[in-house]
Amino acid sequence: MKSPKIWLSSPHMGGTELNYIHEAFDSNWIAPLGANITEFEHDLEKYLSHGLFVTALSSATAAIHLGLILLGVKTGDVVICQSLTFSASANPILYQGATPVFIDSELETWNLCPIALENAIVDCIYKGQIPKAIITVHLYGVPYQIDEVRAVANKYNIPILEDSAEALGSSYKGQKCGTFGDVSVFSFNGNKIITTSGGGAIVTSNHQLKKKAQFLASQSKDEAPHYQHSEIGFNYQMSNICAGIGRGQMRVLDEHITLRRAMHDFYVSLFENIPGITVYSTTNPDYFANYWLTSIIVNPNETKNGIDRETIRLLLLDSNIECRPLWKPMHLQPLYKNYRFYGNKIAETLFENGLSLPSGSNLTDLDRDRIGSVLLKLLG
Ligand SMILES: *Cc1c(COP(=O)(O)O)cnc(C)c1O
Repeated sequence: MKSPKIWLSSPHMGGTELNYIHEAFDSNWIAPLGANITEFEHDLEKYLSHGLFVTALSSATAAIHLGLILLGVKTGDVVICQSLTFSASANPILYQGATPVFIDSELETWNLCPIALENAIVDCIYKGQIPKAIITVHLYGVPYQIDEVRAVANKYNIPILEDSAEALGSSYKGQKCGTFGDVSVFSFNGNKIITTSGGGAIVTSNHQLKKKAQFLASQSKDEAPHYQHSEIGFNYQMSNICAGIGRGQMRVLDEHITLRRAMHDFYVSLFENIPGITVYSTTNPDYFANYWLTSIIVNPNETKNGIDRETIRLLLLDSNIECRPLWKPMHLQPLYKNYRFYGNKIAETLFENGLSLPSGSNLTDLDRDRIGSVLLKLLG
């Protein structure tokens, strides 16, 4: 008999979620409107504690799309984006008819390289296309080089759209991720650190922008007794049922972060004396990572018998343990291969040798034993 599947990152309910869903049923607010949404937004605003405004939406993809609209991105504009990320960071650039320009990573945080970023901006300006926005990502919950990237953005007066989909609870110099962008977004997809089954949020700096995001997300209805529209609208609101799950999840967010970080510690000690395996970690005390996923880099020149990433991946899959190569960089994707890329081969090399390992907050000692014994049998 096959052992039960160990997932990379699966939903982890805290126990109070159903109470909020019952409240929605009892009051018949089975709609993209209601107390759960308002309260979930307040919970997030309080958690970020930075005087910002949160609007719950149907997904982070929707939030990035609305974020680009709020930043004025239109057809023909150029938008800069970190290449090593999930496609949802970049796809909304195309929704707007804009042109993405992709940037390599640096080796410390695996995120946007500030040097390649500045090279790209200078070249875009030389070509007469001042970039309209920069999409930054905190990959796997590790903050990007926030001060360095902000300095470049400010030097050229370009706003930042902070994709914090993977980084709820991470922080930089004591300030929460999701508060560093001119606009920021979160995801509550089923695989994220907390989930609303599907959902996202946009974080804006003032109430007017929040109102605008709500307007766009609910079909851009002008004030009139009939349905009147002066602008293109979207159906991007979060359901009051899903927001109920979110309220329950907010109560266990800090616990989830502790447990995800414990998974990271588990892998750090597992691989401590294993040559050729590096666990992606932040050592700089300014960076606090939620370690949404723990990932490793495999160097086959140093591992036992030259074992490579693929060998480890296939063995784990064969043992019914889910794992996944790192995000394939956008500039290597068939969809995006004809767009410009600035940098070298850092993202590409990380992709070739990187593997994300089971990281959920709901993994058990038994799961860890199984993962550990499979990996040590191969590599130890
Ligand atoms: C998950 C994720 C998204 C998309 O989130 P959805 O809520 O599923 O739309 C965007 N960017 C990154 C970096 C992600 O990991």
